[in-house]
Amino acid sequence: MSNLQVLLVAGTHGNEINAPWVFDQWKQNQDLIDRFGLKVISVIGNPLAFEKGKRYLHRDLNRSFSKDLLNSENHNDLEISRAKELLGLYGPNGKNASQIAIDFHSTTACMGSSLVIYGRRPADLAIVSLIQHRIGLPVYLHEGNPSQKGFLVEAWPCGFVVEIGPVPQGSLNSRIIQQTFQALKICLEEISKSINSKSCFPDKLIVHRHLKSIDFPRDSSGEPIAYIHGDLDGRDWQPIKNGYPLFEYINGDKVRLSDNSFSDEVFPVFINEAAYAEKNIAMSFTKKEVWRFDDCWKDAFYALINS
Ligand SMILES: [Zn+2]
Repeated sequence: MSNLQVLLVAGTHGNEINAPWVFDQWKQNQDLIDRFGLKVISVIGNPLAFEKGKRYLHRDLNRSFSKDLLNSENHNDLEISRAKELLGLYGPNGKNASQIAIDFHSTTACMGSSLVIYGRRPADLAIVSLIQHRIGLPVYLHEGNPSQKGFLVEAWPCGFVVEIGPVPQGSLNSRIIQQTFQALKICLEEISKSINSKSCFPDKLIVHRHLKSIDFPRDSSGEPIAYIHGDLDGRDWQPIKNGYPLFEYINGDKVRLSDNSFSDEVFPVFINEAAYAEKNIAMSFTKKEVWRFDDCWKDAFYALINS
């Protein structure tokens, strides 16, 4: 019998309320979602921010899991304390140790449902391959971006984010709830099948690999002076090439995609995500790649869930 425990997190950002709502309904009706025999713990990532309907109180909890922040004694930020608390309770060496963390988010961008992984950990690649094979979700591989680090799931041996949009912050939405519900069920079912060695791994994984993020055009005082061009708005995951309009000024002038490092089409994601304005991110660009499934991913995943 596997000792595997799966940690499900919602409300890591306190103003993303759909997944916490689903968790709450589940708590009131344990039969709502089949656990497929798995040991599962569900928690609100940032309960204090959630109570106040804010993304965070002192700092972004989902950038608070870097080693330097977790090891520092000099920070009094609530979110760093919460990160330490979550790890103490449910971390891989915590009191109630969990080996896989799945963190449910929502976005204001037209992303649909997608999975986000951080770096190329083999066990992560295995589990997202299973889910992509099952329901076709795009996988955003976030890597090579030193300004954005310390994501929650990185502190567990295996983990990924489920990102669903578009939905305004603080707003319940039928489509987002249904998609969250569906993704949650499939994640649990696929992990459970792996424990019983019934997984059907695909022969390939399609990833959208992070290339770079760009900011809005700003004036000398830092205010945005252009908005996302209407032709780009809502076109997350759809390919564009150099020359495509990205931003528009009030007088109609345009800023077009012009990047010599982009020899071919790129796929924009998180276009106009409301929460990223403070991070100076207007959108991110990715490259679509098809990777051959590597058996070492499966081996790492099986080693983890059977440990
Ligand atoms: Zn979020």
